[in-house]
Amino acid sequence: MGVLEDVMKALERVPGWKRIAALPKEVDELRARVEALEKRLQPATGDQCPKCREMHFMLVQSHPDPYMLELGVMRDHYQCSACGYQDQRTRT
Ligand SMILES: [Zn+2]
Repeated sequence: MGVLEDVMKALERVPGWKRIAALPKEVDELRARVEALEKRLQPATGDQCPKCREMHFMLVQSHPDPYMLELGVMRDHYQCSACGYQDQRTRT
């Protein structure tokens, strides 16, 4: 049996070695996932649209809520530039 085989057998007895040996493949898989996420976020101009899931949902207008003016409530209008979906939200 050669020295290399002896070293490999010795390494297999080291706790966590199997996990360490699998790291290059794991890093490559994570790199691919990060690149896919970066590619998806690169054209982002806003948050994720609840309807079409694209990253083009953004605040287009904000004003005091006319029905809760005395409470200081604001009404925000959001719109997706990809699909046109609109939503309104109130905040204090
Ligand atoms: Zn949309």
